[in-house]
Amino acid sequence: MQILPSRIDPISWIETLAVHAPHRAWLETDDGRVITYQMLGLAVKQRAAQLVRAGIMPGDRVAAQLEKSPEAVILYFSCLAIGAIYMPLNTGYTDAEIAYFVHDAEPAMFVGEGDRPTPGQTHTLADLDSVRAGAAADHVPFAPDMVAAMLYTSGTTGRPKGAMLTRANLASNAAALAKAWAITADDVLIHALPIFHVHGLFIAINSITAAGGTMLFRSRFDPADVIAQMPRATLLMGVPTFYTRLLDRPELGREATKAMRLFISGSAPLLPDTHRAFKARTGHAILERYGMTETGINSSNPYRGVRIAGTVGPPLPGVDVRVTDPDQGGPLPAETIGMIEVRGPNIFAGYWRNPEKTAAEFREGRWFITGDLGKIDAAGYVHIIGRGKDLIITGGYNVYPKEVETEIDALVGVEESAVIGVPHADFGEAVVAVVVAQTGAVLDPAAMLATLRTCLAAYKLPKAIHIVDALPRNTMGKVQKTALREVYAR
Ligand code: AMP
Repeated sequence: MQILPSRIDPISWIETLAVHAPHRAWLETDDGRVITYQMLGLAVKQRAAQLVRAGIMPGDRVAAQLEKSPEAVILYFSCLAIGAIYMPLNTGYTDAEIAYFVHDAEPAMFVGEGDRPTPGQTHTLADLDSVRAGAAADHVPFAPDMVAAMLYTSGTTGRPKGAMLTRANLASNAAALAKAWAITADDVLIHALPIFHVHGLFIAINSITAAGGTMLFRSRFDPADVIAQMPRATLLMGVPTFYTRLLDRPELGREATKAMRLFISGSAPLLPDTHRAFKARTGHAILERYGMTETGINSSNPYRGVRIAGTVGPPLPGVDVRVTDPDQGGPLPAETIGMIEVRGPNIFAGYWRNPEKTAAEFREGRWFITGDLGKIDAAGYVHIIGRGKDLIITGGYNVYPKEVETEIDALVGVEESAVIGVPHADFGEAVVAVVVAQTGAVLDPAAMLATLRTCLAAYKLPKAIHIVDALPRNTMGKVQKTALREVYAR
């Protein structure tokens, strides 16, 4: 097969780097194993040939439920090389959940750890190693709209849906990020995220690989380990919990972070207090950005320019962001809260075998309805107010949880809070606050309510305030409001 090199095809980055920077480190593992760009290029070729030998055709889904390892990343690139669709699955999924994904996606191959029964055509990486492939597979001619990967979205409403991402989606977003964050071959990224989610897999790995940089690939996030890596690194990409946990370590300071160039946060809101505390302690202003499975990154605080806590910055070059009336769909003026919609080369091709759902999530002109409520301020920075489904309607009034959470978080002794709506006989929904106290602080709900009464309209006041030790979060640091609604619905 003829190879059609293209600078924006992820496989072309690897082929080019394998030739032009063969000895540069692509990745170093926890135990010091180094994989160069040349080794990466060879490993991808070999694995691609094994996949072809095992019968994988362009367009086939290859499901992978694998622990974090360089080999799992190589499997992803190998799927790209032969035009197969890589389908990473959360390592925490149960057998029942896996059965659903397999039924829905009908993968031609399932690659697992081999420590539990998995469906159909199951392989381990070791099984694939033993496939005696013939000649190396040439990668399939580049077609920008070919589906490269399919990731199931969290699916808090209805069953999870497979978001189909094309090669052009991945490549354009990686190139835009490398440029926006000034990532170069000199960068060394501390990679401590899981690799079954867009953040760890595409945002982090694609952007550093496109730039020809190096990853310090940590098998899991350990704040002491991450701080220990900082003197030889330049970049960290993390979820907000990374930053709160780093701040818990006394050794985090200016000295420990002086080699670092940039700290990036996303996947969940970074509390402005965390941003300020990190800046005070290290001198670094965390750069917050906004993305999702279906879109990759949409907006980012600037690398050069003012990074504003509590915002996710202006749209990335090439991406359009607008705010519309959630009911009528018409664009709203600056500073007005509504539905965030996005369009650009980063927007996914649609939901797998679900044209109705796909059609329902787009407006005319290829605008994708994100489901996030927010506003764009006069300076062009995007603010996220919360998920549309989190909007509370109480006695006919709309309450944006973020507005109430911001007031609660500002109270003395409050670490953080989550505001939810629970069923209420009179009001339809009642506002309920779940609050975590700062270490050593004692909170008095009655006193809190008295203060909140001075800044919030009566209908926005929580009908109940529950003090808890911690908020339930998923691996990406997102507060699980569905779980909270279940607990406090009674
Ligand atoms: P996922 O598809 O799992 O990546 O989740 C995407 C969702 O995460 C978005 O639609 C937002 O609701 C949320 N999200 C991502 N980044 C941020 C951020 N910086 N601030 C607030 N919410 C965010």
